[in-house]
Amino acid sequence: MADAGVADCAWPEDRIQVSKTPWLIAPWAQFLAMRQADRLPHGLLITGARGLGLMSLARRIMAYSLCQSPITTPGAEGACQVCPACRLRLAGTHPDILQLLGSGSAFGVSIDDIRALIDAFSLTRYGALRIALIEQAERMNRNAANSLLKLLEEPPTGSLFLLTAERADLLPATIRSRVQRLVVTMPTRAVMVRWLCDTQGVPEADAQMLWFLGEEQLMSGQLPNWDWMAVTQAWIALMAGHGGVLVTVNCWQSIPRDTLARWLLRLMVEVMRVQSGLACEAPSNLIPLIEQLSRQHTRVHWLKCHHVLLEFLQTANHPLNDELAFERLALDLTDQSLQTRLA
Ligand SMILES: [Zn+2]
Repeated sequence: MADAGVADCAWPEDRIQVSKTPWLIAPWAQFLAMRQADRLPHGLLITGARGLGLMSLARRIMAYSLCQSPITTPGAEGACQVCPACRLRLAGTHPDILQLLGSGSAFGVSIDDIRALIDAFSLTRYGALRIALIEQAERMNRNAANSLLKLLEEPPTGSLFLLTAERADLLPATIRSRVQRLVVTMPTRAVMVRWLCDTQGVPEADAQMLWFLGEEQLMSGQLPNWDWMAVTQAWIALMAGHGGVLVTVNCWQSIPRDTLARWLLRLMVEVMRVQSGLACEAPSNLIPLIEQLSRQHTRVHWLKCHHVLLEFLQTANHPLNDELAFERLALDLTDQSLQTRLA
């Protein structure tokens, strides 16, 4: 947990630029509208899925709010980057910036962090506004949340509380009722893939795969460091009846059990989608393999395989020998009596 102390804020160059990120533009415009109408509340809660750039949006709001001569040209709104306040912010020494960064901490925001925040609010401000940025606010424990609530109920003059949360529903209702929400919605696949290619320099095939892998991987722009194609082919050969259990297990052993289970579950969802006549969402090089598999077994069989994998995932952290665990999984998935045994 970062010290709540003043100006303990490196100001990293954001990899995600709000103006070039379609799904951040609407909440940014919502903030600007409130600000221009002089209706900015004391508390803002930015919510959305992990990796969509909640903190980038929060930092942009912070920069704009602290700037002494912000650019207000429609479509180009932002901090000027040259006024004394911007210079202090860029140097990481702006005394009105208080940050509680939750990522990287196993415990989230603590009561001590909030107490330090309260102390900091008692100091004289440098500018017109003091901003407290609280990342992953839903990870606050109850005592911390109660203390924060007191601050939100009687906000110090010239204060703005910026909270981010992936799971806003985990925040106490009392806090949610004190803040205005800026919702970052998940973009469509086409929008996300284009963004990864254009702004992050990810090749299109990789971008498609990142979308398929889901939010954990998506915004990192980094493909998994295991050979997903080999793992997939081993699974397909096994399910098609021409892959030996030991060969399959040898291949699977290169990755953690829970990673394997999630990957196979993801593929299996696609197999069932294809069986139901829906479009396959997998990257194009996997589609023929998935279509082939969907013809190989009945829907009931796949549902039962799905069940086997869910059970495997639940026990992925048990201290069972990896080789034995994978062997059992491979046997369970190919068991000819699967349909009757699990019925
Ligand atoms: Zn400025």
